[in-house]
Amino acid sequence: MIYSLKDLELKNKRVLVRVDFNVPLDKDLKITDDRRIRASLPTIIYLLQKEAKVILMSHLGRPKGKVVEELRLTPVAKRLGELLNKKVLKLDDCIGKEVEEVVENMQPQDIVLLENLRFYKQETENDAEFSRQLANLGEIFVQDAFGSVHRAHSSTVGVAQLLPSACGFLLEKEIKFFQQILTTPHHPFVAILGGAKVSDKIGVIRNLLPKVDNLLIGGGMSYTFLKAKGVDVGDSRLELEKVEIASSLLKEGEGKIFLPSDHLIADKVAPTAQIKNTEGVEIPSGWLGVDIGKRSIERFKKILKEAKTIVWNGPLGIFEIPAFAQGTKEIAEFIAELDCLKVIGGGDTAAAIACFGLEDKMSHISTGGGASLEYLEGKELPGIAVLERR
Ligand code: AMP
Repeated sequence: MIYSLKDLELKNKRVLVRVDFNVPLDKDLKITDDRRIRASLPTIIYLLQKEAKVILMSHLGRPKGKVVEELRLTPVAKRLGELLNKKVLKLDDCIGKEVEEVVENMQPQDIVLLENLRFYKQETENDAEFSRQLANLGEIFVQDAFGSVHRAHSSTVGVAQLLPSACGFLLEKEIKFFQQILTTPHHPFVAILGGAKVSDKIGVIRNLLPKVDNLLIGGGMSYTFLKAKGVDVGDSRLELEKVEIASSLLKEGEGKIFLPSDHLIADKVAPTAQIKNTEGVEIPSGWLGVDIGKRSIERFKKILKEAKTIVWNGPLGIFEIPAFAQGTKEIAEFIAELDCLKVIGGGDTAAAIACFGLEDKMSHISTGGGASLEYLEGKELPGIAVLERR
């Protein structure tokens, strides 16, 4: 059993919350996408309403155990303050005497944001002493960083072993949707997998195949599957060492797996490329597949139309280039209008849905890229498992 925030007595308590504020920043250190900050608001607002003292902690980027000025959480504190219309006190460290002093003097409804946890290499090592120092700051631990629960770090596992712990509202929501998909999906259940590489998705395919009615494959990974069927894929992205495994997955999923039957091909990956739709499934040499083709889009729509549950991870083409985004966009728009459970994996797929302005039309868009993949692989996520044990 996992405790929810609502099970806890929070008034006047120092509540240490692991959030996922790992947001993209541009070269002027401006946040280019604040979805992860906004996703943490329900938990933070609830804690404020319950008159808790809120201590937030997160990582940002990969400073690899050193202080990197550009990876300070200062812009995040500013943005969070704007969203809450409230002062967020950002500290320049996440452990140590000064931090302890500030935290001791907090009043109910104060918010403190600790500095980037990964300025200490001990964070990713789940170091016992570092975990203890973090845990000392709070009386209760709340895990709300879905994007980090697939890692056994101090702020995801170490601290949870030392304090009474509960699940925040965002994490609760993520678990609810993924659990439903994996254990009690309504049928027909259709999975769409795309993205660059087969190697990232083998575990997901293995775990989903027995559960789904149909699996639609597009994006860069589809060419390795087509190669396994003996199809010529020209200069498309290929993982030759994965052709054999793709072949065995195709056998396992016979009758369920659908690959593109035509493609949008280009002579290079650039907005200025020459492009055309193939006649059939083959791709001539000198050309590479950059999106699913028109007939594949229609075929995929036909299957999706019947679905009661859809899970989608990985774009169907190189959607970052508008001329190659049609397949991903049309399928996203089609799903948007369907009345069924629609769960979107994090990372690039979530970015694509946001870029098409369709976020409100999905049942759930995960905030975790790696975490959502590992969830779909059926793996135990250490940051969730540790909450279950407590
Ligand atoms: P992933 O992180 O594995 O979900 O991959 C996402 C990336 O896959 C995106 O950046 C897409 O541009 C890329 N992608 C999608 N389709 C293709 C393709 N046909 N060829 C190469 N890369 C692709």
